[in-house]
Amino acid sequence: VISPSDAVTSAGSRDLVITDVSVLVHAPDGIELAEHRDIVVRDGEIVEVRETRPLPAGEAAGEVIDGRGMLAMPGFINCHSHAPMVMFRGAAEDVPAEAWFNDFIWPMEVNLTPEDVELASRLAAAEMIRAGVTTFADHYFSMDAVARATAESGLRGVLGETFFSSDGSAGLERSLAFATEWGGAAQGRITGALAPHAPYTVTDDDLAATAAAALEHDLLVHVHASEGRDQVRNSLARHGKTPIQILERTGLLEARTLIAHGIGIVPDDLPALSAARAVGVGSAPKGYLKHGFDTTPVRLLAAAGVPVGLATDGAASNNTIDVWESMTFFALVQKAVERDPAYLTARQVLDHATRQSAAAVGLAGVVGSIAPGHRADILLVDLSAPRLHPVHDLLATLVFSGRSDDIDTTIVDGRVLMRGREVLTVDVAAVTAELAGRRARLTDRTHGKSIQEYGA
Ligand SMILES: [Zn+2]
Repeated sequence: VISPSDAVTSAGSRDLVITDVSVLVHAPDGIELAEHRDIVVRDGEIVEVRETRPLPAGEAAGEVIDGRGMLAMPGFINCHSHAPMVMFRGAAEDVPAEAWFNDFIWPMEVNLTPEDVELASRLAAAEMIRAGVTTFADHYFSMDAVARATAESGLRGVLGETFFSSDGSAGLERSLAFATEWGGAAQGRITGALAPHAPYTVTDDDLAATAAAALEHDLLVHVHASEGRDQVRNSLARHGKTPIQILERTGLLEARTLIAHGIGIVPDDLPALSAARAVGVGSAPKGYLKHGFDTTPVRLLAAAGVPVGLATDGAASNNTIDVWESMTFFALVQKAVERDPAYLTARQVLDHATRQSAAAVGLAGVVGSIAPGHRADILLVDLSAPRLHPVHDLLATLVFSGRSDDIDTTIVDGRVLMRGREVLTVDVAAVTAELAGRRARLTDRTHGKSIQEYGA
């Protein structure tokens, strides 16, 4: 059993050199491609990105990966997920959001044990590693189980225990205990966050208490807010404030805040967002399309200087937790809603996928860039697929033709988690077999219970 104190991945050195590789880099004017580069990683940190040259003797001692024919890019960051929900993938399809929550998801979640959550988190970890997701900002129950799976799998997580005001004061206490206990575990790969569910399920008093705890312990607050126009209308009718204005009024925007979705953000919210200490938004466009929702107003948020990162939400709504897929949807949906094919170039989309996503989850300068001083969360993309050729503009190729299946190698904190598309840290066959045996119990809804009532 792994506990926070011993949740470290001990396997192998975290020194490596990737030689003669093309690298997606952040230049002052935006994202560029640098060719024939060596990336030197020591103890999980990128120490140098330089022109390819014969390796000095000392560097050849660690692992050396031949990068020819590959593109090195920063690992994807999932800015809002409920990783264990992979177990409900496909169990609630073709229904409106209210029925999705009240008739399916919340009754099914009553069935969950921490063991179910841990098993599902292992499946999710394998899916993320294969999809090139190296960091995920997760929001769920039984997060000790998610944290154990994160530690074991080698992934990086910004993890928060979800709570509702219906849990009483124990909800925030549990969320805070989790965040402080697990923060910094797994060799620093786990960051703790506070995770109030949403302004419509958590009272103003509890949001204010969350803000105070976040400031006292310097924790990120990860919260669903302004998920659609209906929520904004209801919030205005009940409180005279938008959901974002409620976050401001309760002091949450004085803490570091990650807002999931933000679909209903309106120009009236911009003063609060511009004055916020550090706020980011995670956008999960595939699920919005599926539920017939609007989408995150990216152009509006850009004008207010708010970073917008990419997300998947849970696989019960999104069916996959593949951020590369989110990236492609993000680009296409924004062009469609803005009715502007020139809006969001491939370079801008990649900026959302890397630098802005890192900022949104509170890890700016730590991940999201292949540059000295950053942790070595790196993908090696195999550029040999026919679908990727000829290459006129590799960055456009990545966004509009590439898929996560093109990723050959996934590296987190200098440790190789997938090589040649084989996941090295999760026994996928064993996990899927065991989960299949639990399917009937997990999806049982005959007990008539629910963890919440959705009516926002
Ligand atoms: Zn969510």
